[in-house]
Formats: sequence, C-alpha cells, structure tokens
Amino acid sequence: MKKLTLLMLLAALGLSACQQKETNPLLAEWNTPFGIPPFEQIKLEHYMPAIEEGMRQQKAEIDAIVNNPDAPTFANTIEAYDAAGALLSRIMPIFSGISGANTTPEMQVIERELSPKMTAHNDDIRLNEGLFQRIKTVYEQREELTLDAVQMRLLEEMYKGFERSGANLSPEQKEELRRLNTEISKLQTQFGQNMLAETAAYTLLIDNEADLAGLPEALRAAAAARAAKVGHEGKWLFGLDNPSIMPFLQYTDNRELRRQMLDAYLNRCNNNNDNDSKEVVHQIVNLRLEKAKLMGFINFAEMTLENRMAKTPTNVYDLLDKLWTPTMKVANREAAELQKMMNDTKVAGKLEASDWRYYSEKVKGAKYAINEEMLSPYFKHENVRDGIFYVCNRLYGITFTQVNVSVPTDETVAYECKDADGTHLGILYMDMFSRPGAKRGGAWCGRYRSQTYENGKRVAPLVTIVCNFTRPVGDKPALFSPDEVGTFFHEFGHALHGLLSDTRYNGLSVPRDFVELPSQIMEHWSFEPEVLNQYAKHYETGEIIPQELVDKFDKAEKFGEGFRTAEYLAASYLDMDYHVLTAIPGNLNLAQFEIDVLNNKRGLTTQIPPRYRSTYFNHTMGGGYTAGYYSYIWAGVLDCDAYNAFVEAGDIFDKTVATKFRKEILERGGDEDAMQMYLNFRGKAPMIEPLLDNRGLR
Ligand SMILES: [Zn+2]
Repeated sequence: MKKLTLLMLLAALGLSACQQKETNPLLAEWNTPFGIPPFEQIKLEHYMPAIEEGMRQQKAEIDAIVNNPDAPTFANTIEAYDAAGALLSRIMPIFSGISGANTTPEMQVIERELSPKMTAHNDDIRLNEGLFQRIKTVYEQREELTLDAVQMRLLEEMYKGFERSGANLSPEQKEELRRLNTEISKLQTQFGQNMLAETAAYTLLIDNEADLAGLPEALRAAAAARAAKVGHEGKWLFGLDNPSIMPFLQYTDNRELRRQMLDAYLNRCNNNNDNDSKEVVHQIVNLRLEKAKLMGFINFAEMTLENRMAKTPTNVYDLLDKLWTPTMKVANREAAELQKMMNDTKVAGKLEASDWRYYSEKVKGAKYAINEEMLSPYFKHENVRDGIFYVCNRLYGITFTQVNVSVPTDETVAYECKDADGTHLGILYMDMFSRPGAKRGGAWCGRYRSQTYENGKRVAPLVTIVCNFTRPVGDKPALFSPDEVGTFFHEFGHALHGLLSDTRYNGLSVPRDFVELPSQIMEHWSFEPEVLNQYAKHYETGEIIPQELVDKFDKAEKFGEGFRTAEYLAASYLDMDYHVLTAIPGNLNLAQFEIDVLNNKRGLTTQIPPRYRSTYFNHTMGGGYTAGYYSYIWAGVLDCDAYNAFVEAGDIFDKTVATKFRKEILERGGDEDAMQMYLNFRGKAPMIEPLLDNRGLR
C-alpha cells in the first residue's frame, strides 16, 4: 500500500493554509467555557497541518528576535524567546495527551512522522547561532540590568540550557557533539530493544500441575491462558515480565523452578547471543564520558547533576551512604527471620536470592494474616475521590465541582477547581480506567494547557489525571486496591502542582529530583485515620474501615522494606558508580564491576541482587534516569520531612504549614532553586530520619 503523506492528504482535501484557519479547530479561536479546546471537533487530519503551522510561527518569532535591529535586551530577547511558540504550546499538549490516553494506529503513524521533525525543529532553535549570541549578550550584562530574582533565574537557566546543548562549542566540537549524541541515542535504543527481546525470549512452560503448588488460582489461570495463546493448551506458561515472574517467585513452592526463573531474570542480555548488551553498556558509558569531557566536566554524573536539586555526585552519595547502613541492618534482620522460617519448615541450606520473596510472603502470612482483598471494599472509586477533595479543601480551601465541558476522551470527567474565595484556578480532568491498546500503561498526570501569563493575566491550566485502575464490573462499583488508592493520591499531588501554579515564565521547569515532592507528600494523607474516617466506607454497608485492619496492613507493608530499599539503593549506587568514572577500562567487565562496587565495597549480601543489573538497567542505560535513579529516594526524603512539618504542628491540616507549602512550593514551579524553595517552606534543610521512620528502617 502506498504510504499516505500528510501533504497528499491535505491536497486531496483541497485545503490551503488559509482555509485551514477556518476549518482546523486547532488553529481557530476557542470561544468555549474556560477556553477549553473543542476536543470533539478535533480530527486526525487536523494535527499535522496545525503542528507544522505552529512550528512555522515559532520559527518566524525566533527570526524576528534574531533580526531585531535593536541591541538585545531582557524584553526583546529573553522574554520574547520565552513567549515564542505559543501556538505550538497550545497544540502539542493536545496531541501528546490524546496519544497517551486514547491512541489509534493512525495516530501512531503521525507520531512517528512527527518525532524527527520535532527533533530537527528543536535542534534548529538550540543551535541557532544568532539567537544564542543575543542571549549571551544579555547574559553577560546581567549584573548591570535591574532584574528581579525570577527574571535573573530565567536568564541564567536559559543561557545554561543553550550551553548544555553545545551552543558555546567550536564548530568542530559541535560536530563531535552531534556525532556523540547520535551514537549514544542509537546505543540507548539498541539497549532497550535488546532488553525487550531478551525478556520475551525466555519462557518457562510447565506441564505438570504439581509444579504449580503454592500459586494462587488467579495466577494459574493467567499462566494457562498465556500457554493456550501460543498453542500449549492445558499447560502453564511463565515469563520474565514482572507481572509474571514476581508472583511466581513469591508463591511457587518448587525451589528449583524459582532458582531457574530468577537466574534467567538476572542474566538478561548477558548470554552472549544477539541480545547481549555487555558491549553496548561498555560503549554507552564510554561515549557519555567523552561527551562530558567535551562539555568541560570530569565525568558524566557531574554534568547531569549540575541542574538537579542534588547538584553534585557528592551530595547524592552522602544521601545514599546515610541510608545504606540502617537499611542493611533491617535487611539482615529480615534475612534472619526468613532463614528461621526456612529452618522451621525443614528446608535445608542457606537462604538464597530466589528464596527471598517466597519466604517473605510466608512470614507476612504467619505474622499478619491480611491481604489486599480485605481492604478494597472500603475503597470505592467515588469515595476515594471525595476523600481527596476533602484533603485538598482542608489544606488549601480549594473546591472541585463537576462541570459539563468538552472532554478529551469519552470516559473523562471534568471538574472545576476554585480557590477559597471562588476564583477559578483551573480544570481537572480524570480518566481513571484502563483501555488496553489505546491507553499506555501506568498512571500519570499531564496538562492539556499549562498555566501561563498572557498580557499580565493568569491563564488557567487544564490538568489531567490518567490511570489504569480496575474498572467497575456489572453493577458493582470500582473498588480500588490500597496501591491504587496511593497512586490516586499521588497523581492528585501532581495535579495540585499544576492547578495551583502561578508562574510568570514558561522556561523555568522543575528539576527531576524535586518534581515528586508534591505527589509523594499527598500519599501521606491517604491512610491517616482522620482522613480514612471521611472516605473509607464499605461500599455496601457504609461502615468505616476498622482501624485494626489498617494497622495490620501497615505493619505487613513495612515488612520487606529492608529488602526493597536495599535492592533499590544498590541499583542507585550502580547507576552513579558507572557515571562518576573518569576513565573507562578497555576491558570493563560488568559482572565484576557490580561485585566490586556492591558486594566488596559496600557489603551487599548476594541474597539481595540490585533491583536492576547492568545489562538490563534501562533507567540508566536507556537514558531518562542516567545518574538519576537516586531521584526516587531523594524525593522520598523531602516528602517525609515535609509531611513532618504538619505532624510537628500537631495537626495534619495545619493551615499555616499548608499555606506555606502552597505559596513556597506548589505555586512556584521552577521559579527558584529547588533547595532554596524547600528551605523557604521548611525553614531548615531536610533530614532523613522521617523517611527512615516512615519505612520502618530505625
Ligand atoms: Zn509521580
């Protein structure tokens, strides 16, 4: 079939650019309530022409900045650049929002076609010499200009952003940088593809039902369905994907099979076959180091961390080291309990890595006798939602009211968020249930429009929460698991960060290791008795969840925290250790490197493998979380310490603390250095003790 290009499509439809303006809803004025995009009018064929028009306008706006005969000033260069691309910023969130939540094969075609165009468009801007020279001129005069703190930060961040993209390099160096970027990007993709292929390549087919002993019925059924799908009716198939292997390791009585599965899992992309990634990793760390040196840094971690809250590798190691000792103490205590359970059940030998999850379930079962199904009836979707609204109202005085406006997907519900005095703050969309094939996995919070300022007036944001929660079946309402409740609160925290935002400029973003503070702190309220009393009501009887059940669940959850934190910290060390190297040995042996830095240097027991080993550590080798895997626990320290401010005030809804959190953090985006914003809120640096208490690590 001949590939239909968008130009052909447009030609076939007989549309010229100016006709589009009338017929393309993405380019038209939106005379709608709250300026919401008319989602129902937006058709597939509207995207590409509108996006291209957006790019064209942004390019024209940038050309106008570059060709301005006046000398560069903060207003005609910095502010003008920050405001450029308004049309594209209006269209792109709609396209990516729908792509994530409700995609189609046709939409994926546009996505693939768009991706290289967008990269080239952004490269053209980042490498625009004339633009950079004007920004640099203003930057060099910054001390003489009368800028306020936010303006100064915008200028500095903008300049550094260009610098990080290589704007200050010589033409030869720029060429070299482009080469390195391309190579690294290719290898990262290769790494991810190897991992996908290798994870899918190994399967365990069981034909003897006795080998399933210990496995719950639902998991057996899933494994039987999986086997039948590939022509093995009447057998059971397991794989290395987490939803399959993790419960297998938790429940299967057959020790030898657990060993086999974990061994295959730990050796992914380490089997000297086509999917082997040892050499890929070697090259990736090599090229990243070369890039860092080209940019004037001694190693890759120094370069990456420069614009994070952590700032330096030393700060990251300080935190990891402080957590390591108490974590290992608890992990070793857990190991002793598991070993005892093994001995008590007359299993000979020493606890192995493949035994850990299995005996952990056994100990939890014996000690706490609780499972998630006992809690779900108290977590009806609507009740949990109202519980979150209640928390937000008590903290910030804000309200949420359902409104009948245009929505991005059929299943989305819209709410208007208003301030205590009735001022409109923004719109919140919620799209809660899974739609396999159309919605990507996981849960996230996105924007259909970010908060901005136009002619001195706040433009309210359109924020969305998208989840893959359990759908209601028949007339039974959707009942969430405790994990889903936590996720709902979490995403709502991100949503508040968006809805309450009140920032002047578009170019100041929140660093990765700070962005999870507003979301993770919200989780703390979800299981507070005062909050549970409001929302956790049995969906049939209306009875409030018994506190005893909650306490039991809480204790059971904490068991295993030593293991979970240890495997996480081990992976965080590994990620950092590769990227602080200032020379990469030609014969770098990844397995030996892991043993050296984890077991030999830090005393990790072999009973706990790192959460990811080098050949399948996609967070770091695939990019995205390179020298950044620590971020989760970094934010964990912040949210536990920040929540403690409420606890210390003696009221989890303390108005003074809440108002400070809103004013100093939620409203301010990236307006100030993240640590400074934290200090403004808390009055002192974050401490790790609240996190240790929260995880039961003290
Ligand atoms: Zn998050």
